[in-house]
Amino acid sequence: MRRKLAAGNWKMNGTSAALAEAEAIAQTHAASPVELLLCLPATLLSRAHDRLAASSLSLGGQDCHAETSGAHTGDISAPMLADAGARAVILGHSERREAHEESSEMVRAKARAAHEAGLMAVICMGESLAQREAANTLDIIAGQLSSSVPDTATGENTVIAYEPIWAIGTGLTATTDQIGEVHDFIRARLERRFGAGVGRSTRLLYGGSVKPDNAAQIFATPNVDGALVGGASLTQADFSPIVTALE
Ligand code: PGA
Repeated sequence: MRRKLAAGNWKMNGTSAALAEAEAIAQTHAASPVELLLCLPATLLSRAHDRLAASSLSLGGQDCHAETSGAHTGDISAPMLADAGARAVILGHSERREAHEESSEMVRAKARAAHEAGLMAVICMGESLAQREAANTLDIIAGQLSSSVPDTATGENTVIAYEPIWAIGTGLTATTDQIGEVHDFIRARLERRFGAGVGRSTRLLYGGSVKPDNAAQIFATPNVDGALVGGASLTQADFSPIVTALE
């Protein structure tokens, strides 16, 4: 059985004061069967780790470098994230693929580095609106999946997040038919490449304007094992109903 996962992506939001929200989220769901993960700005990780040490909420970063150390001004390595208290890292988010021109090959190298550092890689992929309208969605996903996911992937160290670019931060959500089609496709591809064990144990998250009022419907879709939530993960008031919908 795949354990449900509620992952928050704070993006470039939050200073120390915001950690009260992370604490409130952890407290509200202290006994939850759902795995909770908050991917915070790197500046908050070690402070959050100290304050949440007793809780079952896990912390994650939002990117890492493919190398462990070296002359890469401004970058952060996977071992550094692990040292700061992270258990996971988001990789290949569309905002990074676009603004930082990250290719799927770069994402794969980063995911391998994350695995070597003992981090769970939350590997993101999704199509643009133009690609969907041209009926290319499954081709795009197939390409991103085969190029972004390293051979080191297992059901424990890898999570795939399907995030249609046109649904991120826009208030537009994919329909459950659209989500189901892509998630079924990803599941089948993982099973074909890695075998039934890894293919069936890898969790698939949906992301893109997941909110308290649409979460239950999305989570009722087969092969949806949770969500990667941006805007609605910043406060306990918004994130809690989403976690509850998964419980
Ligand atoms: P959103 O972001 O929930 O604000 O649409 C999701 C994401 O980018 O991971």
